[in-house]
Amino acid sequence: MKFIDEFRRSDLAQGVIRRIHHNSTKKARLMEFCGGHTVTIMKNGIRQLLPPTIEMLSGPGCPVCVTDNADLDKAIALAKVPGAILTTFGDMLKVPGSRSSLQEAKAEGADVRMVYSTMDALQIARENAARPVIFLGIGFETTAPTVAASILQAKQEGISNYYVLSLHKLCPPVIRALLDSGEVKLHGLICPGHVSAIIGSKPWEFIARDYRIPCVISGFEPLDVLQTVDMLISQVEAGDSRVEIAYRRGVRPEGNQRALELMYQVFEPCPARWRGMGTVPDSGLKLRREFARFDAELAFDFDPGPTLEPQGCICGDLLRGVKTPRDCRLFATVCTPATPVGPCMVSSEGSCAAYYHYGDGTSGEQGGQ
Ligand code: SF4
Repeated sequence: MKFIDEFRRSDLAQGVIRRIHHNSTKKARLMEFCGGHTVTIMKNGIRQLLPPTIEMLSGPGCPVCVTDNADLDKAIALAKVPGAILTTFGDMLKVPGSRSSLQEAKAEGADVRMVYSTMDALQIARENAARPVIFLGIGFETTAPTVAASILQAKQEGISNYYVLSLHKLCPPVIRALLDSGEVKLHGLICPGHVSAIIGSKPWEFIARDYRIPCVISGFEPLDVLQTVDMLISQVEAGDSRVEIAYRRGVRPEGNQRALELMYQVFEPCPARWRGMGTVPDSGLKLRREFARFDAELAFDFDPGPTLEPQGCICGDLLRGVKTPRDCRLFATVCTPATPVGPCMVSSEGSCAAYYHYGDGTSGEQGGQ
């Protein structure tokens, strides 16, 4: 198939669904790591189309949702550094930290600007040479290479007022932490397509080898996800555990070496805090020593204050796959996309937002807008 429409054809989908129903005899709890997959599943009612033997769980793969409150507080404090311009992607603006959000800081006078790319942030730095311009770097292996490229570009051009707060995260280490915790028993993992386009399929092999869990890398269209579930069920039924690629048009086993080189030229692994997971070794990216002058944490004197968690919010449990948004007593009452209490309701890839907009398939109800 070559065109997006073909990945949404209902006749093809019906055939795959029939095959899944026919083949699935054992209980199979499958986790979609990525928030993008959660949205595809909810939006297209994929859960409702699967047999009762298959349970789908959402995982920790939403970069906005997994950003810890202490790190959000750092970003908000940096936005208040006198003269600073804080640049970030749109989803981050409304995420509540311990006491406020970036949007509220902006309303109080901080210069917070939404950008669509790191190169936009760099352009703001060029145009405001007398002011520090800080880019809030969140995201997984998919975005970190572009942030690395902006730092290399700034170095090459001698742009001295550009800084990055690196809150980037690496996906395989958090999956290992999740599996080591033993909190949730998985029979299959839907691996993230966009992350895998950068890292390839090899970094997932430890899951199949060490934990005996089948992995399939999926694209983001409905037929991609159905095909992935079909492939996972084939492995579950056969007792196999391998890493397979259902997203051949986007992922090669070796990944994108150029992007990885860029990323590791500028960054190196470090421990990182994940919402709901605590600190996970080697799951973050910090600037290497030779790029330390771009590090916003080192460049400015700022006080993020003590960290407070949002009362009643269970985002951490959702990100570990142990609860669903329906288990949260604030869901769709106190907490809505207009009045978000936690990041899972703010982010376009958050599971609470997906449940709110599309329903969860158990009641036929939607949260409504
Ligand atoms: S519904 Fe709101 S408060 Fe509850 S877990 Fe989701 S984001 Fe947090």
